[in-house]
Amino acid sequence: MNVLKRFQSVKQFIKTHNINDVTKRSTHHVISIDIDGEHLKFPHVWLRDNCQCEQCFHTSARSRIIDYSNFNIDSKPKAVVKGANSVQITWDDGHTSNFKLDWLKLRSFTAESQNKYTDFIYRPKRTSWHGKEFLKICGIHDYNKIVQSDEALYEWLYDVSVYGVALIQNTPNKENAIDNIIARVGFSKQTHYGVKFTVQNVANTSNVAYLSSNLQMHTDLPYYEYCPGVNMLHCLVQTKSEGGENLLSDCHYTAQYMKENYPEEYEILTNIEVEWSDIGVEDGNEFFKLYRSPVICLDSNKEVTRINCSIPQRGNHFPGLLNVVVPWYKAHKLFFDLNQEFAAKFKTKEGDILVFDNIRLLHGRNKYEDKPNNTRKLIGGYVDWDEIYSRLRCLKVKLFPNSGIL
Ligand SMILES: [Zn+2]
Repeated sequence: MNVLKRFQSVKQFIKTHNINDVTKRSTHHVISIDIDGEHLKFPHVWLRDNCQCEQCFHTSARSRIIDYSNFNIDSKPKAVVKGANSVQITWDDGHTSNFKLDWLKLRSFTAESQNKYTDFIYRPKRTSWHGKEFLKICGIHDYNKIVQSDEALYEWLYDVSVYGVALIQNTPNKENAIDNIIARVGFSKQTHYGVKFTVQNVANTSNVAYLSSNLQMHTDLPYYEYCPGVNMLHCLVQTKSEGGENLLSDCHYTAQYMKENYPEEYEILTNIEVEWSDIGVEDGNEFFKLYRSPVICLDSNKEVTRINCSIPQRGNHFPGLLNVVVPWYKAHKLFFDLNQEFAAKFKTKEGDILVFDNIRLLHGRNKYEDKPNNTRKLIGGYVDWDEIYSRLRCLKVKLFPNSGIL
């Protein structure tokens, strides 16, 4: 998230909540500390809350242990003594805090410092793309290197987080080959389709993905509140005939395009909830999944957090008012058509694992011929974004030991 934008939304928040007086007063409740030639400001309450002494902070648990029922949010410093590398603050209740200057600098409240932390540690900044740029943005990675090397693991996960897609090649032709990749990240996300799932032509299927006809572009499992973050599809057998190509579209690109060119339709898709659904039986287990959410989900900063889109998995109960139905369909059709227009077409080959962000990209597949001597078989698995971002941060600590991250 761009900090400038965040500051703007804070200004808006202050305006709408009429809390100008509070913020004016709070500007006096800061200490200015000179670090490496910069005047950095730190609020009293934040410094007191983040005291690193043994009574306030548990070192091995890396956690705050302040008794918050007795915490005084109006604590004031009585004395501030700055040394060469640290600063000591004595509070009005007699408690003493020591802070390393480097530690404070990394946590400073300047936009520059906060942006740096956000992009380097919180989440890498995403780059959206049009399908015609696909070959340029889709990083190629090697299965064995990811299994063996932290650098290769980092590069692959970084690519997936920035572009929402990456390709792994040279995967062994085994049904459990993606297990090794998933284990390098953490663990998989299980759903009612199993820990892993097989995508191939199946008569009387429980899911339309298991047919050889055109599979319209969609996100997987939008009916999950905790929707699987990343989809991995290992191509074990690819059809030798025409068809069977994957279609991929970056909805962050589409959403931005709609915001600029079709603002009303964009507004509708970000506000109107529809119901996503999956009802059936898989391996003898009944399921009845429902979840209500807009197609384009935004956070409090109006940034896209999640996309939901699936023609078969949208239920026929419309939870909104009668007069929003037609405008919603118009906006949804536009979104779907734009994604088809912006999509990349790409046919995986045996040994490829196509990895993509399931809450950002739409994916689909062109129809293909399925005969006993010419089949197509993929093994799929999911991993959540929590595990991927966590692994990326752990790798950053390991690979960039001097960055002072922790
Ligand atoms: Zn303390």
